[in-house]
Amino acid sequence: MRIDIITVLPEMIEGFFNCSIMKRAQDKGLAEIHIHNLRDYTEDKYRRVDDYPFGGFAGMVMKIEPIERCINALKAERDYDEVIFTTPDGEQFNQPMANSLSLAQNLIILCGHFKGIDYRILITKEISIGDYVLTGGELAAAVMADAIVRIIPGVISDEQSALSDSFQDNLLAAPVYTRPADYKGWKVPDILLSGHEAKIKEWELQQSLERTKKLRPDLLED
Ligand code: SAH
Repeated sequence: MRIDIITVLPEMIEGFFNCSIMKRAQDKGLAEIHIHNLRDYTEDKYRRVDDYPFGGFAGMVMKIEPIERCINALKAERDYDEVIFTTPDGEQFNQPMANSLSLAQNLIILCGHFKGIDYRILITKEISIGDYVLTGGELAAAVMADAIVRIIPGVISDEQSALSDSFQDNLLAAPVYTRPADYKGWKVPDILLSGHEAKIKEWELQQSLERTKKLRPDLLED
């Protein structure tokens, strides 16, 4: 899949996509991430991407022209499944949304700044990463792209491990442990050392249920 991110601060996220699992996903050809500097789509000598809002409101608004030029240039090359705008008043991003977006071929993610974008811009999805306000959409775009790319088959080595993570099946994940089995008297649950696969599975589900009941009872209501 291909994700095009449009931003005024490419340097803020380039490093993120050049590290670790996101880098390997691109090296393996499983995902393509392209970051576009919105200022490259301005036509004035100051490369302006913002202007004063109509109505006398406070703050600045991202101008329509460079954004439309950039989106049109991308759309001229290929079809896009969604043009996503990162915004705190959008639909809240979650695992089911990441799962379904990971089936897309091509996505555009537009990062906002200042007070937001001129509302006339053609967007197909408005997505928030949580009920708080960030200074810009770059971290939100990185969060979404990471969650979407992570579940593409082959991106993380053990596919099974993505499926047993929290929020798949509306359950939090069971706790995990590694060596030593006894650290200063703090012991790993015996069942995990038993080698009894069926019993371990049963324990995992029971732990998942208990943690979900305690920490996120809202997930069980669904
Ligand atoms: N005036 C806006 C906030 C602007 S914050 C409002 O009140 O809703 C500046 C930019 O940061 C936004 O345009 C958006 O792209 C990004 N942003 C801030 N918080 C975000 C969040 N929780 N999720 C996704 N994007 C966010």
